[in-house]
Amino acid sequence: MGNIDNLYRTVIMDHYKNPHNKGLVENDDSYQTVHLNNPSCGDDIFIQIQMKDGKLSDVRHNGHGCSICCSSASVMSDSIKGTEKKEALAIIDNFLTMIKGEDYNDDIDMGDAVVYQGVSQFPARIKCATLAWKAALKALVGEGDE
Ligand code: ZN
Repeated sequence: MGNIDNLYRTVIMDHYKNPHNKGLVENDDSYQTVHLNNPSCGDDIFIQIQMKDGKLSDVRHNGHGCSICCSSASVMSDSIKGTEKKEALAIIDNFLTMIKGEDYNDDIDMGDAVVYQGVSQFPARIKCATLAWKAALKALVGEGDE
């Protein structure tokens, strides 16, 4: 299984070093912004979601934290961007289920998010991996900061 671990680590480091959809959009009311932090690790991130015609037309993130947290924000943005709200909620729910080490639905396309599966074995890192996803969930259900 060593090769799979290496592959997963490579994907995580790639998203950490070259994050997708990074940087927030300023002064645009069409974005819902949510800010969450994880004091136990020092992770601090913002997530922005723009809805257009029932779809997540844009998903942005910014902030700082450990490699698990920051890479997960990038992966999350890729996984839900362009989906319908219902699909995005299903993907987030599935991810949160997988991270807890519970049975998840592998018919749902989560993209690179499957690489965080192993995190379920490290309870201290679960908050790191889920922070961006929980922020996205809040943005989608309309519990943004502003
Ligand atoms: Zn962290």
